[in-house]
Amino acid sequence: MEKDILIGSHVSMSGPKYYLGSVQEALSYEANVLMIYTGAPQNSTRTPLEKCKIEEGISLAKQNNMAIDKFICHAPYIINLANPDPEKQKFSQDILINEIKRTAGFKIKYLVLHPGLHVGIGDDAGLKNIIEGLNIVLKSTENEDVIICIETMAGKGSELGITFEQVNEIIEGCNGSNRLGVCLDTCHINDAGYDVSNIDEVLSKFDSIIGLDRLKVIHLNDSKNLRGARKDRHENIGFGTIGFDNLLKYVFDERLKDVPKILETPYFNKKPPYKDEIKMLKEEKFNKDLFKDY
Ligand code: FE
Ligand code: FE
Ligand code: ZN
Repeated sequence: MEKDILIGSHVSMSGPKYYLGSVQEALSYEANVLMIYTGAPQNSTRTPLEKCKIEEGISLAKQNNMAIDKFICHAPYIINLANPDPEKQKFSQDILINEIKRTAGFKIKYLVLHPGLHVGIGDDAGLKNIIEGLNIVLKSTENEDVIICIETMAGKGSELGITFEQVNEIIEGCNGSNRLGVCLDTCHINDAGYDVSNIDEVLSKFDSIIGLDRLKVIHLNDSKNLRGARKDRHENIGFGTIGFDNLLKYVFDERLKDVPKILETPYFNKKPPYKDEIKMLKEEKFNKDLFKDY
């Protein structure tokens, strides 16, 4: 790789090739990192680890010098630790515990988690539930070498974790556990009201409120909506309201050198854009006609 940057995208993890297929997909995009869901994001049905071709995936990644220690898992969306219904809370905790074990089974160290939705009980009560849930989950997975990365959210519906302060409140509520990190999603923080174009301001706020050492993953997405719209609709790199040059700052910033950048931009005409988007970012050159031939 011409420059020493950690860049990749989310890739699929499904039969018959499972994790081997995930690594092959990432390599086809010329990525050196990747993110997977260990099963469908919308449910908790999971293929047993023995069938997931994990060793094959790992050895292919190693052969190709991928940054395997920076690979990422994403927890399913159905988890809502903030849910006021005790049964659903317990259900979410149990799925998260299982997902942490699966992440460890893939020998992946980072698991991205959407903190939760308060569904009407308000921010404070919702955050309290998230903290309680995370404390239970952390305790029952003490021996797993997995860091839960709380994702910064866009503020759609009753989402929590939409400011750095809220994310920090969660971490503090778990006594600053060293098994908690943060995933910063550029589309989400834009939609939540942060000025993504001002990277110095974003990172200095992040540092003073949470601490940059907690930042473990960047989701690099453009946004279909204006700053502060609280929508959460990802756009292809350079085709949204954040823009190519502003996203590029996050790819090459020295302070973020060791943080993997993961694209979750939409498919175009049912085709993945990642190989081309990664190429544009590496070459630092935007191609406004990128999708003309798609
Ligand atoms: Fe996410
Ligand atoms: Fe994201
Ligand atoms: Zn999103």
